[in-house]
Amino acid sequence: MSQTITCPSGLSGRIRGMKVREERILADRKLARSGGQVDKLLAACWEETLDPGPYDFGEQEIDWGKVLQGDRFYALLQVRALTYGPEYFFSVGCQNDACRARIEWELDLGDLPVRPLSDESRAAFLDGNRFETTLPEAGKKVWFSLATGELERRLPRVRKSAGDRVLSAMLALRIQEIEGVEPRDRRRFIEDLSLADADFLMDELDRVDCGVETAIEIECPECFSIQEVELPFEQTFFMPGRGRTARRRDLSSSSLP
Ligand SMILES: [Zn+2]
Repeated sequence: MSQTITCPSGLSGRIRGMKVREERILADRKLARSGGQVDKLLAACWEETLDPGPYDFGEQEIDWGKVLQGDRFYALLQVRALTYGPEYFFSVGCQNDACRARIEWELDLGDLPVRPLSDESRAAFLDGNRFETTLPEAGKKVWFSLATGELERRLPRVRKSAGDRVLSAMLALRIQEIEGVEPRDRRRFIEDLSLADADFLMDELDRVDCGVETAIEIECPECFSIQEVELPFEQTFFMPGRGRTARRRDLSSSSLP
């Protein structure tokens, strides 16, 4: 079973669903730690490039390290939907402290809004993946890049070593240059940013990016409070069968005398 998809940047190709052999990729802990799982999965399930969009792979096969995170995630969602169907079940705790119920939610992955790469962003991406903005409080220009697969692969290590400085570590990954700041002083400059400037920068990173919106609204069935959650990626995302097994096990153990 295969299907033609067009990613948010215009990259288009034919994908197939996952096969049994891909379970090995998902179960490989070393690969998960290195952040290479997504690359392996995409490489396995991407059968053919029909339109390279803003990328130049020459005569080579698609290099997922060069592909924007928004495209990668979109392609991954499509592979998942093609393999197991678009329905995704997950559960989160209610954010209302007085309630704290477990909310079981079902979602059609095809309903998540997708933001295409704008013409302005496409031009900046083609021009060396370099985007410019000005920090409102510090009054300095900042140049940053959109996240690609290469950057995504570095995330698990960066998160681990950043400790409680995740925000500045994430910003440092995306910032290429700060007006009047030497590269060696960049990290300190970021640590010293006001939260208003940091917020502004995060919004800018989002604004020019493309991809699938994963902030969704859900309603608690117990207290009816509406809450926004970031779509969680549980193990059932790529292995819904395991969730099925767990449910069956729960059922059989709860029916024990
Ligand atoms: Zn609730």
